[in-house]
Amino acid sequence: MDVLIINEEEVKANLQMKDCIRLLEEAHRLLANDQAHQPLRLAMFPPMVNGILATMPAYIGGDNPIMGLKVVTVFPDNHKKGIESHQASILLQEADTGRTKAIIDGTEITAQRTAAASAIATKYLARKEASKLVLVGTGVQAHTHLRAISEVRHIKEVHIWNRTLSKAEKFAETYKDRFSITVHNELADAVRSADIICTLTHAKEPIIKAKWVQPGTHINAVGSSTANTRELETELVVKASIFTDVEESALNEAGDIIIPIQEGKLQEMPIHANLGELINGTHQGRSSDNEITLYKSLGVGIQDIVTANFLANIAQERGFGTTIQM
Ligand code: NDP
Repeated sequence: MDVLIINEEEVKANLQMKDCIRLLEEAHRLLANDQAHQPLRLAMFPPMVNGILATMPAYIGGDNPIMGLKVVTVFPDNHKKGIESHQASILLQEADTGRTKAIIDGTEITAQRTAAASAIATKYLARKEASKLVLVGTGVQAHTHLRAISEVRHIKEVHIWNRTLSKAEKFAETYKDRFSITVHNELADAVRSADIICTLTHAKEPIIKAKWVQPGTHINAVGSSTANTRELETELVVKASIFTDVEESALNEAGDIIIPIQEGKLQEMPIHANLGELINGTHQGRSSDNEITLYKSLGVGIQDIVTANFLANIAQERGFGTTIQM
C-alpha cells in the first residue's frame, strides 16, 4: 500500500501557527465532547542514558477521523552536539481500517503544537489587554511561543531570561526588529514585568518564586513536564487558579502539580478546567483581573495526531511529501 512520508523541512514550510492553533482547538473540543480518545503516554527512562522515550497514541473523530502514535525522545544534552533536545516521529493509521496512512516528522510539530496549546490557554485565560510577555528559557519552545502568543494577544514588550545569558542575547538579536525585547540578568526582574509568563526550561527544581508574580498574571508552565521535576515553587501553584490540557495527565505527570499535592499544600483535585472546557464554554476561565491563572501544559497525543493529519491531507494538493510502497 501507499504510505506518505513528510519530512521536517516540509512540515516547517507548510504548517502555519494560525492553522495549528485552530486544529488544536478543534481536537480539544472533540476530546471534551467524548469524540477523541487517548491513554496516558507511556514513557521509559533507561538509567544508562540521559534521555527519555515516550509513546503517545491518540484517536480523533469528527469530520476527519484518524488515529496514530507519536514517538518522542528528550535528550537535554543534545545541544552540545548541535541537535535539538526533542526528536519525534508520528505514525498515522486510517481510523476505519487501521492501515498506515503516513509517517511524518514530529520534531517541528512538537515545537509548534506545544506553543499553539499555550496560545489557546492564553486566549481564554490572560487578561484581554495583556501585552507584556516574559519568556523563561530561550530554547526551541521560546521561538514558537513568541510566535504563538503573538497570535492571540497584542504583544508590546518581550522580556527574556535564560540560564546561559549569551543564548538570551542571541535570541533577542533575532527578534529585535520585530519586538521591543529586553534581556534580564535576574529572573525576578523579568517575572515582575509580566502580564503573561511562559516557563520553557528543563529545570528540575523550582525557579519561579510566588513573590515575584504580580496579581492578574497568566502563566503557561510548559517545561519540566514529568512527575518529579518542576519550574514553579509550591506557594505560586497554591495561589494560582490551575488549568491544564488534560486533567488526567496533569495529575499523573506534572511535578508542578503532583509535588505540592504530596506536600499536603494543594488539594487533591486542584484543576479548574481542561482546555476543552474553556473552548466549548463550560468553564468561564479567568474570573477577575487580579486572579493568577496557571496553565500547566503536559502535551497530549491528540495535538500531534490532528496536526500531522492536517499536513497529510493537504500534501497532495500543495505538492509536498513522498509516497512509498510499504
Ligand atoms: P531546549 O532544549 O531547546 O531548551 C531548554 C531550555 O531550558 C534552555 O533555555 C536551557 O537553558 C534551559 N534550561 C535547561 N536546564 C535548566 C535549568 N536547570 N534551569 C534553568 N533553565 C534550564 O528545550 P525546548 O525549548 O524544546 O523545551 C523546553 C521545555 O519544554 C523542556 O522541559 C521540554 O521538555 C518542555 N516541553 C514540553 C512540552 C509540552 O507539551 N508540555 C512539549 C515540548 C517540550 P540553556 O540555554 O542555559 O541551556
